[in-house]
Amino acid sequence: MNTTSRTIVKTVAGQATSDGAGVRLNRVIGTAALPDLDPFLMLDEFRSDDAGDYIAGFPDHPHRGFETVTYMLAGRMRHGDNQGNTGLLRPGSVQWMTAGRGIVHSEMPEQEDGLMWGFQLWVNLPARDKMCAPAYQDIDPERVPQVSPAEGVTIRVLAGRAGGVAGPVAAPATDPLYLDIGLAQGAAHVQAVPQGHNGFVYVFEGKARVGGTVLPRGTLGVLGPGDSIEAVAEDGPARLILVAGRPLGEPVVKYGPFVMNTEGEIHQAIADYQAGRF
Ligand code: MN
Repeated sequence: MNTTSRTIVKTVAGQATSDGAGVRLNRVIGTAALPDLDPFLMLDEFRSDDAGDYIAGFPDHPHRGFETVTYMLAGRMRHGDNQGNTGLLRPGSVQWMTAGRGIVHSEMPEQEDGLMWGFQLWVNLPARDKMCAPAYQDIDPERVPQVSPAEGVTIRVLAGRAGGVAGPVAAPATDPLYLDIGLAQGAAHVQAVPQGHNGFVYVFEGKARVGGTVLPRGTLGVLGPGDSIEAVAEDGPARLILVAGRPLGEPVVKYGPFVMNTEGEIHQAIADYQAGRF
């Protein structure tokens, strides 16, 4: 097999911020240091065992023009939307929500204490799909396949392929890869990443050497070109997410919870939301 190993071309530490009704989180994509990484518009890590940091949750708010993806590591979060979907996110759950032409939803903690930990990723949609019907993939932890392609390597496959299995998420426009990779001390894994996809890793436990660059916890590494990436645990066990997707190459106009291609479409989104047309 003739492969080109990807390297890390940029590293970014998250920035502490708050969103929703005051949930404290670490924003890693969607900051001045990394405004976006086509097709990814935002990545937040929320992690706190202080209920005061998360108890207010994310009450009703709209989205149009892209997808929101929540991956839960610890804690319980209740989702509800104006399309009649409800779901309970538990540790290991994935919720892949396609806002399309418009959705109003809430994401509220279903616990009053204990650790709440997970990620929210925003994935852009191409112009042809921005006004599609809203859709919702609520994936229980048991439906996320786990593979161990080598000693000390454990991979949960949320989307795309790893270790000979495919993840449960369907998102054809961007053909995403979303893996949760656990590495025991000294363990190494080489993962295929489709050529031409943009991608990143984010280390959320321990420290890992990825594409030759050591990334401490809380650090994102942007992948350079190639068709594979190597990750090695450094100084103990490590855990990271590896996310990649087909870039859209379209203009991006963001206004809060709306992401469209033009200013005019943003004005339309605001007007439609205010008129109750979501
Ligand atoms: Mn939301």
